[in-house]
Amino acid sequence: MKPDPNPVANPVGRWADKQVPVSTAQIKEWLRARDTTVIVRPVIDLADCVPVDSYEIPDRIRRRVELRDHQCRFPGCPKQATRCDLDHAQPHGQGGSTCPCNLVPLCRRHHRAKTFSRWRYLIVLPGYYLWTSPNNRHFLVGPEGTRALDPPASPDPEK
Ligand SMILES: [Zn+2]
Ligand SMILES: [Zn+2]
Repeated sequence: MKPDPNPVANPVGRWADKQVPVSTAQIKEWLRARDTTVIVRPVIDLADCVPVDSYEIPDRIRRRVELRDHQCRFPGCPKQATRCDLDHAQPHGQGGSTCPCNLVPLCRRHHRAKTFSRWRYLIVLPGYYLWTSPNNRHFLVGPEGTRALDPPASPDPEK
């Protein structure tokens, strides 16, 4: 099965873990089809704060983070969140909670980049991350993708 290429302006679902919206018409069609398995999951409030005391991340918290962020949140990285580590934005040892609001999917490579190099990020809003590279470039990563924030260097500032 393929997602509806022209979902309605008001999508009601999402295609798997991808950024593809799904229309009600598409869902009705799937429900009518004989060879289809439809799994209905309860709606989760992704903005909910549900901290736990442990450093380990329970599945219900991991699931919320995956649904919010979908992919590794390093600038431009397409790795699926389901295959990422969850980084404590504020380290657990420094009072950072094990809660969706403090957990960010980073693939193993980019988790290491954050831990061992000078890449840094701030959570601007839930799901929006402002990254600073080691050479001080800035990137905003959000549901719409990655945006470079610095103006392109002027060819010759003297002229
Ligand atoms: Zn929280
Ligand atoms: Zn990554």
